[in-house]
Amino acid sequence: MADLFDKFQPLIDQYEALRGSGLRDPFHLQMDEIKSPTRAVVNGREIILVGTYNYMGMTFDPDVIAAGKKALEEFGSGTTGSRVLNGTYQGHAECEAALREFYAMDHAMVFSTGYQANLGLMSVMAGRGEYIVLDADSHASIYDGCAMGNADIVRFRHNSVSDLEKRLNRLPAEAGKLVVLEGVYSMVGDIAPLKEMVAVAKAAGAMIVVDEAHAMGFFGENGRGVFEAAGVEDDVDFVVGTFSKSVGTVGGFVVSNHPKFDILRLVTRPYVYTASLPPAVVACAATSIRKLMSAHHKRAHLWQASRKMHADLRGAGFELGTAEAESAIIAVKMPDQQTSAAMWTALIEEGVYVNMVPPQATPGFNLLRCSLCAEHSNEDVAEIVARFVRAGQAVGLPVSA
Ligand code: PMP
Repeated sequence: MADLFDKFQPLIDQYEALRGSGLRDPFHLQMDEIKSPTRAVVNGREIILVGTYNYMGMTFDPDVIAAGKKALEEFGSGTTGSRVLNGTYQGHAECEAALREFYAMDHAMVFSTGYQANLGLMSVMAGRGEYIVLDADSHASIYDGCAMGNADIVRFRHNSVSDLEKRLNRLPAEAGKLVVLEGVYSMVGDIAPLKEMVAVAKAAGAMIVVDEAHAMGFFGENGRGVFEAAGVEDDVDFVVGTFSKSVGTVGGFVVSNHPKFDILRLVTRPYVYTASLPPAVVACAATSIRKLMSAHHKRAHLWQASRKMHADLRGAGFELGTAEAESAIIAVKMPDQQTSAAMWTALIEEGVYVNMVPPQATPGFNLLRCSLCAEHSNEDVAEIVARFVRAGQAVGLPVSA
């Protein structure tokens, strides 16, 4: 009998080598206690969390927790059914109402995760003989949604307006086209030139979707995302988002002004063939979304903290993914995988958690990815940078305070 696990052997060997090197395993860290959006206890020690997507720090918001507890008690622990069968409760409708208000759009559809929202939208919106034109650095959920559908897939160079235009111009003028963009790209934390891209896509007669997973809550006057900050709200056909980042729970959604939008509830398999979110989750999400509408101080602080941390890490000599802070994600480049793992371990020893990201998941480099939270204080930022410098020196990087 052939062992079907044999194909994983190269990865198993690589992983064993990492674990045998005396370094900590970056992919199996256990948080024993969560004290706040920015603090956890690991192996009996408190660490500063600088690698979560808790951008707006909503996970311990008292109103969010109270709403979740109330729904858990009144509606039970789960729906045990699909949205199109017994799984649409008053809480799901309320959550969709909160999204319509947040985005000032006519329609909202809540999925069980953001991953499923992208699977659903990409797999149904463009079919045989139609085209999906997407940024080469698109999230895995976008690629996977394309793989599930029947459209022809065309990739353009990351964030290149001219390449997008060139590829659109090669397609048959009359064919249906969906251009897929992201507000913030999650590995490097750079943002898309949405104004220019949307103009080019519109000129080619394409419909446009923007995934604002990493921008919701703190880009734009109302926290809607990069598309709001770029002033293209009227030209975007769909916005995809998630509850697993700024909203602080789990779930995904698509919002749109298209008058026929609701038909998607019947034809989208990742919506139809899975259980709906538990009542406590949609109650937390709806409360959090409504509070994010007016979270102006949090937005302002997150921006200030992100810019400060970017400037100070760069000043200390770290090589960063972007020249300026473009979002709350600050990607610190590492020269190789060994240094990356050593630096990650040194940071954990210093009491700082960041994400170690291998080249397979990035545009080709080893990254220690930091993401800030509106609850990180100015003192936290100074402390994080000081610990980065100490850890960097411990692994031989040319950095200094
Ligand atoms: N889109 C993007 C750009 C993402 O980064 C992610 C998650 N990292 C998702 C979608 C999926 O979100 P979720 O966690 O809700 O599945």
